[in-house]
Amino acid sequence: MIVVMRPGATEQEITGVKTLIREMGLKDQVIVGTDLTVVAAIGDERLKDCAVVESAPGVDKVMRVLAPYKLAAIETKQQQRTVIKLSETCVFGGVQVPVIAGPCSVEGEEHILQCARLVKAAGGHALRGGAFKPRTNPYSFQGHGEDGLKMLAAAREETGLPIVTEVVTPSDVELVSEYADCLQIGTRNCQNFKLLEACGNQPKPVLYKRGMSMTIDEYLQAAEYILAEGNPNVILCERGIRTFEDHTRNTLSLSAVPELQHRSHLPIVIDPSHGTGHARLVPAMAKAAVAAGADGLAIEMHPDPAHAMTDGAQSITPAVMEEMMLSLGRIAEAVDRECVKVSEMV
Ligand code: PEP
Ligand code: MN
Repeated sequence: MIVVMRPGATEQEITGVKTLIREMGLKDQVIVGTDLTVVAAIGDERLKDCAVVESAPGVDKVMRVLAPYKLAAIETKQQQRTVIKLSETCVFGGVQVPVIAGPCSVEGEEHILQCARLVKAAGGHALRGGAFKPRTNPYSFQGHGEDGLKMLAAAREETGLPIVTEVVTPSDVELVSEYADCLQIGTRNCQNFKLLEACGNQPKPVLYKRGMSMTIDEYLQAAEYILAEGNPNVILCERGIRTFEDHTRNTLSLSAVPELQHRSHLPIVIDPSHGTGHARLVPAMAKAAVAAGADGLAIEMHPDPAHAMTDGAQSITPAVMEEMMLSLGRIAEAVDRECVKVSEMV
């Protein structure tokens, strides 16, 4: 932490800051410049409340040097990236850029089987589908619950695709973890810290979506809740944030990809479906995400979007997905990555 003193700060004020820094268990070093005096605090400040120093007399501003998240920070792994495997053919954080695809909700047994076959045929690497749906309106369809999980498991059994499905409450974590290959935490639960901890206490990887009004800094601090419980397999997912813009459902922040990769070793996936809310925008944003260096994609695909139980407007058709996958392969290659259909993997 660097503490910049106000011009003309007195000796007494500087001593006060030095005392505060020492009380925090850090060492102080005073640097006297021509116009300003700066006090450097040396030591691990990540768990310290640097804001208290800001209110001390004579202080102009305080700048952190280390991020307040320890386990998620890139320095922790000495620039090495975390690699997370959902199956032999679906690995995040390596050369491959896997595509998770499927309907917003698990609608029924035949339906999810059909979706799984279509995802596989189009070249997708994992199947998504919500069995527990966090709905804005309490009267909307809430998902098939455990039956939905069983349907997903049957689809995995037939196609071999790993399954990614959302968990909305801590008491369901154990159940969802029994069925899923990866637990999704949705945007509405981004700061449900008890849920984050519960997901940190089970063995499956977690697809953790950014809150729709969360800063990158808050996002990584919250991811720390999962990591701190002992689960190192957290896949970050940018799914769009709330802004004044209303031509899209959310504003898809693609700069989150290089920014999160700069700050953290965790893989980052882009969800252009929730990020835009319009199926016609999804392929272009998926391609842009791969070009920006995303470690994966999460996409809503439905065989009959007009009749989807949830999120039909943003669900692409299997035909669009097939075409999109071909472009993704070419773009991935151009940025030294691979997005190869499972059937074509060697
Ligand atoms: C979903 O994946 O269907 C979903 C509800 O996502 P989000 O939490 O990003 O809205
Ligand atoms: Mn959805």
